Amino acid sequence: MDLFEYQARDLFAKHGVPVLDGAVAETPAQARAAAERLLPAGGGRVVIKAQVKTGGRGKAGGVKLASTADEAEQVASQILGMDIKGHTVHRVMLAPAAAIEEEYYFSVLLDRANRTYLAMASREGGMEIEQLAVEKPEALARVAVDALEGIDEAKAREIAEQGNFPADVTDQVVATVQKLWDVFVGEDATLVEVNPLVKTADGRVVALDGKITLDGNADFRHPDHAALEDESSADPLEAKAKAKGLNYVKLDGEVGIIGNGAGLVMSTLDVVAYAGEAHLVDGRGMKPANFLDIGGGASAEVMANGLEIILGDPSVKSVFVNVFGGITACDAVANGIVQAFGLLQERGDEISHPLVVRLDGNNAEEGRRILTEANLPLLEQVDTMDGAAQRAAELAAATAANPAAAK
Ligand code: GDP
Ligand code: MN
Repeated sequence: MDLFEYQARDLFAKHGVPVLDGAVAETPAQARAAAERLLPAGGGRVVIKAQVKTGGRGKAGGVKLASTADEAEQVASQILGMDIKGHTVHRVMLAPAAAIEEEYYFSVLLDRANRTYLAMASREGGMEIEQLAVEKPEALARVAVDALEGIDEAKAREIAEQGNFPADVTDQVVATVQKLWDVFVGEDATLVEVNPLVKTADGRVVALDGKITLDGNADFRHPDHAALEDESSADPLEAKAKAKGLNYVKLDGEVGIIGNGAGLVMSTLDVVAYAGEAHLVDGRGMKPANFLDIGGGASAEVMANGLEIILGDPSVKSVFVNVFGGITACDAVANGIVQAFGLLQERGDEISHPLVVRLDGNNAEEGRRILTEANLPLLEQVDTMDGAAQRAAELAAATAANPAAAK
């Protein structure tokens, strides 16, 4: 899960990383009140920053300064509601504006390719790191961090040296980098990035912008992280699926997909996308509508929940259930499907679209026989994965082209 800047800022503060005081506002009036509190007494400015989970807010006009509460209110009303790279701004963060003398870069992340952690640092921060990496790769230090040793003072000093930080800030950078490592480990993050890490006119090193990605696999260790989730922008079907414990990702096609095993579902997406190229509606090929892995087991309830989520997606025109029987054999899955139809009927959520089922693997024959005998409405079986994908795409195109004929 990626965090908003203000949430990252809070976690930085919790671990002693130097940050500026800040406040979050959802309306111009709230921004005004926050500015009144944050504007330094002897004059000075506040910075108003769009809170969206994407970089380059500065360039997009989502980071602005204001000298008075009036002006802060006005600037906030411009930024709130703005679209930045497809993200709508619902909140702004206000902070006393820092007098920036220099901008640096620091990040630490999980380096999967090298099976280690990687710290990156540069005295040339501010610009997008992807751009720096391309234009001045020599200015971006990359220092591997051993998972067991972590970033102690000596490692932090090595990072500061490799990043070529000026001597007058080295000690502060060394201290800050160690605290950022505490954030990384303490919060179970896979990315902690500060861009820019600044030196202010009065010589302080401050984390001015923060990005944190938390490792969802460690959620069980952090009950407090649940509150960081952004429910307002979550896809409603994904949220509903999550509440039912389903591994579901919404995609933008027409063929609903259910499979057992993440690898099988991934390859099902490919096969359906390929088959769909031959079935055009308004010049557009049929595509998978979602990822849904129902895992092992053959519970009718899981199957019914999966079908309910998929059929709740208005863009779905057909469904492809792709099962490879293993420890859970095909006959058990077939019985699960039959019972799921019954459960859905009880819930008043009857199957409304054609369903193509492919059963293969352990006890496939028996599974197919069970489905054939059950004679379920709108369900047909195809014995191969390619054949079933083609049939599901064909049915989706037929339904999409002639919605009245569905049902
Ligand atoms: P990003 O563009 O999404 O990465 O947003 P940042 O928070 O990094 O802000 C972009 C740029 O705005 C920074 O690199 C700074 O140059 C500038 N900026 C951000 N906060 C302040 C501030 O408090 N004072 C001043 N003077 N500039 C700021
Ligand atoms: Mn930034």
